[in-house]
Amino acid sequence: MSGVITRFAPAPTGFLHLGHVRNARYVWEFARAHGGRVLLRIEDHDRQRSRPEFEDAILKDLAWLGFVPDEIVPRQSERDAAYRQVLDGLVARGLVYGCTCTRADVGGDLYANTCRGRGIALTDDVNWRVRMDPGVEAFVDLLMGPQAQDPSQQCGDLMIRDRLGNWTYQWAATIDDYLQGVTHVIRGADLLDSTGRQIRLARLAGRNEPAVFLHHPLIMKSATQKLSKSDRDTGVRDLRAAGMSAETIRSLS
Ligand code: GLU
Ligand code: ZN
Repeated sequence: MSGVITRFAPAPTGFLHLGHVRNARYVWEFARAHGGRVLLRIEDHDRQRSRPEFEDAILKDLAWLGFVPDEIVPRQSERDAAYRQVLDGLVARGLVYGCTCTRADVGGDLYANTCRGRGIALTDDVNWRVRMDPGVEAFVDLLMGPQAQDPSQQCGDLMIRDRLGNWTYQWAATIDDYLQGVTHVIRGADLLDSTGRQIRLARLAGRNEPAVFLHHPLIMKSATQKLSKSDRDTGVRDLRAAGMSAETIRSLS
């Protein structure tokens, strides 16, 4: 394999923890094994929850751990023009509509496409959604094997921008992966369910060849609970402050 481009894409909404470290190991090891490149992308699409202090801390902790990216690409808050340009193409094809539903109206993961056909304009104070017509997205995960997902049954018409004016993770990450030439998306298994919709969205946006995906097991806090950013005991900062070496932290992850 040549021309491999992968990425490490943390959200600056908390400190780096062991879950990130495991992901970084997979990303950098894959790139090294294939002579590829690692992009570092700060996913600060959520303007309310992202903080520059977290971004600083993530970059410092990553460097201290010895993970050096080949390139730092623009953070998502700087990508508005690119996102709008891709969006325009979808709007022109009638694939995007405004939605006034609240989270409570939707009531779960599967949106019932309630506002499709209501003709709600794409103003800044409504959600923007892209149509997900019925159809299976099949792909072969490099670790988890063959998968088949139908976004119309998992999530319905996909929110790409929320009523607060934030581009969503699904949209920002998908468009960035496409436009930044990411060939291999390597991330935790908690995002496996997002992959079919991201493949669909990328194709609608004009991507001819989908990315290849690898989802790796998560570090669990217990048999049923995954680690979260609020688990301070697994924060890289705290482990470092407790005297642990970078090497030990990497090997723990
Ligand atoms: N920003 C996402 C996260 O922190 C990255 C998801 C992805 O790799 O696609 O979980
Ligand atoms: Zn709606």
